[in-house]
Amino acid sequence: MLYTERVIKSVIERNPNQPEFHQAAKEVLESIAPIVNNDPKYEKHGILERLVEPDRQIMFKVTWVDDNGNVQVNKGYRVQFNNAIGPYKGGLRLHPSVNLSIMKFLGFEQIFKNSLTTLPIGGAKGGSDFDPKGKSDNEIFKFCVSFMTELYKYIGADVDVPAGDIGVGAREVGYFYGAYKRFTGLYEGVLTGKGLSYGGSLARKEATGYGLIYFVTEMLKDAGTDWNGKTVAISGAGNVAIYAAEKAMQMGAKVVTMSDSTGWIYDKDGVDLKAVKEIKEVKRARLSEYKNYRPNAEYHTEGNVWEAKVDIALPCATQNEVNLEDAKKLVANGVIAVGEGANMPSYPDAIEYFQKNGVMFAPAKAANAGGVATSALEMSQNSQRLSWSFEEVDAKLHGIMVNIYKQASSAAEKCGVKGNLVVGANVAGFLKVADAMIAQGPML
Ligand code: NDP
Repeated sequence: MLYTERVIKSVIERNPNQPEFHQAAKEVLESIAPIVNNDPKYEKHGILERLVEPDRQIMFKVTWVDDNGNVQVNKGYRVQFNNAIGPYKGGLRLHPSVNLSIMKFLGFEQIFKNSLTTLPIGGAKGGSDFDPKGKSDNEIFKFCVSFMTELYKYIGADVDVPAGDIGVGAREVGYFYGAYKRFTGLYEGVLTGKGLSYGGSLARKEATGYGLIYFVTEMLKDAGTDWNGKTVAISGAGNVAIYAAEKAMQMGAKVVTMSDSTGWIYDKDGVDLKAVKEIKEVKRARLSEYKNYRPNAEYHTEGNVWEAKVDIALPCATQNEVNLEDAKKLVANGVIAVGEGANMPSYPDAIEYFQKNGVMFAPAKAANAGGVATSALEMSQNSQRLSWSFEEVDAKLHGIMVNIYKQASSAAEKCGVKGNLVVGANVAGFLKVADAMIAQGPML
């Protein structure tokens, strides 16, 4: 049995009931197999066994008192996966679906994504099964402070720098940061996605969505086309989805769908992003309200956005939201490109179907790395006690995304699979981390 196959088998045996982690590990290991199995140094140094085992998995109790005086208990997590190339870095997710398998898949993916940015950041992820929906500001605050009573012991500007993810935006980062500062007395760049008045970076909010569009632009360019006049389906209506939609529109595309966890909208005239921002960012309400702004638009609670006839699809909500059936629908409707804004939104068989049918495919690890890259730029600004202009950060983000595309596409070509950015991103991300691990010896 080949080295990669043995490690995949052992990941499955040694981590039972962690399907998302198995899926992520299998995807990476299978795509780097031609490199790893043909060079004995990786096995000699135990690189894969070391990579698939997190440095540490911190699990803790989060207790807080709700507005009715009832004590609530949630699970808290921080998985510090690998710090071979820099301090641990990765978001915090607050969603009822959060469990160890999801934390590990996200932390594992983050290692390679962060490596691809070319910035010095390791991989981690954290969060809680706390559901922020329907909670008052006071309840959110109490949860965040309680979460940080434990997490603060394990993080720091040069140790581990968490950020936002699903359910964690500026408000939550603010509460986490305030609590960290209170517990440690340190005013340091320990979290990213902070407010502008206390160390945040301009363009961080926009970065993942804008970065996705910059990446897909390069992919389209290689195929001799661009966004102009293209119709786009986007899922989600959160941070990534909103700013992906904004930049796609600026590039001349028409975005016709968006969704949240209760339904989706189809607006044949192009989504009114101002309305979506007001509903989701200001009112924190359901997308069903969109019809109050645009009575002619459709709102559905059945099916999903992948039913729409579009040229480009951008899944930007959550993992495993594009299955084989969705892929078949998109291909039958003539989709030419898919760009993943969310983490691991497509099932493996859906990706295979896209690739077999000549659909350009931009994998999350590369295409959504703009968020963490800009987080690393926020860390740089914090270290320098400086803040850069929006244009400066955006220009750096753009350069990073073009570079990530080049790395992924040239690695794919070197592996003999030109255009396969899944393989290219995994190989390029892996090589740098493996190199650093070998150089630092087998301690971790
Ligand atoms: P947000 O919480 O801002 O938005 C998530 C959106 O997706 C919301 O509209 C939410 O609906 C919807 N959604 C979430 N979970 C589900 C679900 N299980 N089923 C259906 N809809 C769902 O998160 P982000 O935009 O920050 O993150 C979206 C994705 O992008 C995630 O996969 C995240 O890991 C990834 N990502 C985020 C980065 C960032 O910088 N924020 C960086 C890189 C990746 P509702 O409004 O009803 O909750």
